[in-house]
Amino acid sequence: MANQSAEVIIIGAGVAGITAANTLFASGYKDVKILEARNRIGGRIHTIPLGSDACSVELGAQWIHGGAENPVYRMALEHDLLGSSSIHDEFAGIYCKENGTRVDKSLLDTVIAIFKETVEDMVDFSFSDSKSTLTCDEYLTSRMPVILSPISDEQKKEAANIFQSLLNILKEDCGGELTRLSLSCNGFEDDFRSNDHTLPAGFDTLLRKLMCNFESDVIKLETEVKMIDWSEKENAVHSVVLRCVERGKEMTYTANHVISTIPLGVLKQNHQQLFSPSLPVDKKNLIEKLGFGQVNKIILYYDEPFWTKGNGGIKLVWDQEAECDLGDRSWARGIFAFKEMKHIDNVLIAWIYGDSAELIESIGETRVADVCTQVLKQFLNDDRIPKPTSVRTSKWCTDPHTLGAYTFVTSGCHYDDIGRLSHPLLNTFGKPVVMFAGEATHDNHYASVHGAMLSGIREAKRFVKWKTN
Ligand SMILES: Cc1cc2nc3c(=O)[nH]c(=O)nc-3n(C[C@H](O)[C@H](O)[C@H](O)COP(=O)(O)OP(=O)(O)OC[C@H]3O[C@@H](n4cnc5c(N)ncnc54)[C@H](O)[C@@H]3O)c2cc1C
Repeated sequence: MANQSAEVIIIGAGVAGITAANTLFASGYKDVKILEARNRIGGRIHTIPLGSDACSVELGAQWIHGGAENPVYRMALEHDLLGSSSIHDEFAGIYCKENGTRVDKSLLDTVIAIFKETVEDMVDFSFSDSKSTLTCDEYLTSRMPVILSPISDEQKKEAANIFQSLLNILKEDCGGELTRLSLSCNGFEDDFRSNDHTLPAGFDTLLRKLMCNFESDVIKLETEVKMIDWSEKENAVHSVVLRCVERGKEMTYTANHVISTIPLGVLKQNHQQLFSPSLPVDKKNLIEKLGFGQVNKIILYYDEPFWTKGNGGIKLVWDQEAECDLGDRSWARGIFAFKEMKHIDNVLIAWIYGDSAELIESIGETRVADVCTQVLKQFLNDDRIPKPTSVRTSKWCTDPHTLGAYTFVTSGCHYDDIGRLSHPLLNTFGKPVVMFAGEATHDNHYASVHGAMLSGIREAKRFVKWKTN
């Protein structure tokens, strides 16, 4: 069994791991390696070429949320990577019903206004009662009669359908799990106010800029860490032993410090086997209690757009009471929007959450595209809607190196819990032998690229502080 060592080993070459390495190199610490299980860098940043013009589309992170306060934005601006930027209007689109008719415009405007007020109430609630154990779903279910009370009886059913469809906007934050999302830590504060920016050449252009302080051979691809042995060993040169499988062969790495960026979904499933000795009880509890949502994208590429550009795409208002049997197409009811892309003319993207997100992973991409075409034909009442010429679906739920999409706070948890997830494992001398970075460990900006980036900087600085103290 071969053996290699480094002062610091980072597990994972997503944005958190790459940022941590870059910060260490910039601070003069060069004995650093990154071990990455996949055969590519980026983790949940995954830009791929699609269609006959090989346009760059994102299977994972898509937008830089917010402006100058966001370090990812500042970096993209500095390197001239930004495309069009605009206020993110989640509500824009042509709203269609299952029977192929359009939603009444004035009713739609009223329900959107009610929906925005409801979300503001939920945010206010989160500030006023940070200890509540209510879930967002429990709150909404109990308040629904009041929420829709301004609507006339004749329009109530349609209004309820629209409201239920709009809830998908919130589901994006928690991977569909409003039944588990904490009302007191719902994270909806910035939902409708943020300026969102895209990277037309792909989010992965940012990763290359982030690697400016080190060579790519610092990263060992196809090297999966199977066990992190942080037990204290007498007279050992290094504090941590990592048992790995590198390109099919067993391999051992040793390090003085490890920065783990292993995603929360993987920790949930594997923490028992991954750590020896086991993690402290508090950390295990946090890993189990925090939520990790399920989100996937269906990316449809057309040779020519069939929709009118600039309207925000197509929104689907499903009849919540309809009992029609969609058979193996039931997952399609999880689609709310076919969103257009500002910088790519001929692509529509459907986001899908929760159980539906998991379901599409077992269905072939061609079948997924066929069902999307049937749904579009039905809702737009137009048999001429073409089939996409290319399709890609993400598979984050079953991907063994992510096992989900991103973190959310469940009822019974608090933002402080996320902060505690970042606490390092210390040896008896107080040395941080295993540190934790990654989006799940940032108490304010979890579930984002900038949160992951900031967590990488935080842990690199923790190491530097330890060395210089
Ligand atoms: C569908 C989707 C859409 C999103 N949209 C946005 C968005 O628009 N804007 C935004 O800001 N954020 C978005 N996000 C969230 C954002 O992508 C993540 O928060 C961020 O990329 C996480 O970075 P990370 O470095 O913490 O984790 P990751 O990117 O997951 O990196 C962790 C790395 O660790 C590796 N790894 C795991 N286990 C092991 C092991 N045992 N050994 C070795 N390596 C291992 C993985 O392969 C991976 O490369 C989205 C995420 C998804 C899934």
